[in-house]
Amino acid sequence: MKTGIHPTYYEDAVVTCRGCGYTFKTGSTKKEIFVEVCYKCHPFYTGEQKYIDTKGLVDKFKKRQEAAKKLQEKRKEKKKEKKQQEKAKSLKELLQEL
Ligand SMILES: [Zn+2]
Repeated sequence: MKTGIHPTYYEDAVVTCRGCGYTFKTGSTKKEIFVEVCYKCHPFYTGEQKYIDTKGLVDKFKKRQEAAKKLQEKRKEKKKEKKQQEKAKSLKELLQEL
């Protein structure tokens, strides 16, 4: 191994999870590592629904979804109204023809 070009290797670097506080040791060139989620609290391993929402992105997404749903319903109603109007028109036309 050439000297002077390799970073310091810490054999007992501490990894700390910000999501649940769990810590474990590993080998790394950094003494301390912070992660947002680990295998102790990630939904894939726990089977639970839990959001680690540090930036409020999940809330934002949920709000957008709700807004989109409302918009879709409004559009559906408009389409229905349009169809009904068209039907009424054609009936009128039929009556006028008689
Ligand atoms: Zn964790």
